[in-house]
Amino acid sequence: MRVLVTGAGGFIASWVVEQLLGAGYRVRGTVRSSRGAGHLRQMPGVERLEIVEADLLRQGDFDLACRGCEVVIHTASPYVLTPKDVQRDLLQPAIAGTRHVLEAAAKAGVKRVVLTSSMAALTDEPDKAHVLTEADWNTKSSEFRNPYYYSKTMAEREAWKFVEEHRPSFQMVAIHPFLVAGPSLTPELNTSNKVLADMLNGAYPGILDIAWGFVDVRDVARAHVLAMERMDARGRYLCANRTVGMREVVALLRANGYGNHRLPRAPLDWMVGNWIVRAGAYLQPKGVRDYLSTHIGRKPVFDNSKIRRELGLAFRPVETTILEAAADLEKWGHIPERAEAA
Ligand code: NDP
Repeated sequence: MRVLVTGAGGFIASWVVEQLLGAGYRVRGTVRSSRGAGHLRQMPGVERLEIVEADLLRQGDFDLACRGCEVVIHTASPYVLTPKDVQRDLLQPAIAGTRHVLEAAAKAGVKRVVLTSSMAALTDEPDKAHVLTEADWNTKSSEFRNPYYYSKTMAEREAWKFVEEHRPSFQMVAIHPFLVAGPSLTPELNTSNKVLADMLNGAYPGILDIAWGFVDVRDVARAHVLAMERMDARGRYLCANRTVGMREVVALLRANGYGNHRLPRAPLDWMVGNWIVRAGAYLQPKGVRDYLSTHIGRKPVFDNSKIRRELGLAFRPVETTILEAAADLEKWGHIPERAEAA
């Protein structure tokens, strides 16, 4: 069986490719430029890997890429909070790109599509009084408010609409990760691991009242593979382990050798701190401002039982994820080395 992975050189997709090759599948990976595929060519099982160039904005690229594939794992989508041009840099590649991939998959007679959606398609303003599940849809984001969230929501809506209207050859399953962290197979600093790098590099003025639904990148990759293999997989799957606040992340890092890094100290995670942070957000680029104003003082609460029950996914402890992500940031030079490790 041949599996197409779009955006194969990305943070999550590289692990998907690694796991597929490890399980003996033939894989075709799309990249925008084959210069970004060096690490894929070093993977065990590379003799079963084919790399092709494809851009989400060019339908024809995916018509060719999908040919002869039974499964498509569509992860490619821009992951940027502060785009220069929202339409060009986010919405078009995310939404039209998804349509291009699905049209090509339908033409090629693909049997299953696994779509990497996001928590961003469930909400852009978590509320601890509401337990998020696969039934939720983000109805608040727009081109002007959290546009990355909007791109993910509209891309997924477009995908389900396509399935509904065209009744294609494939069944579609969507995976909804929250904040994905963990070791990277490339030196690039991914937007989500950057949250930890920023914490360790002194980018935060203090400990903010903010929390994330952490999930390990290797578990997210595993979720994609399970969603492809399990013929009974259906619909959407929320994919996050546990909500962890900034205070807990900082304490964990401090206790594990990162005490000399520039971790935030000042306690801003209370009512007055929230006012200060919200006011300060006006000095930040618009994307960051949107994000802070919709997430400060809000704790995501979610139910991940569907993915555990139906796909049998077991999550790694978040402590392992965070510490292995930090060690990896150190390895790639994104943060200074720990004194002990130097
Ligand atoms: P990356 O930025 O590492 O991966 C994004 C991938 O999309 C890259 O391979 C990139 O290619 C590709 N891409 C972007 N624009 C285009 C385009 N116009 N044409 C072709 N390919 C394009 O991020 P992640 O691995 O984190 O993200 C992968 C997916 O997971 C995305 O859909 C993202 O929205 C989703 N996600 C990520 C989360 C996270 O916390 N990391 C959480 C929830 C969802 P190139 O390398 O050439 O830039």
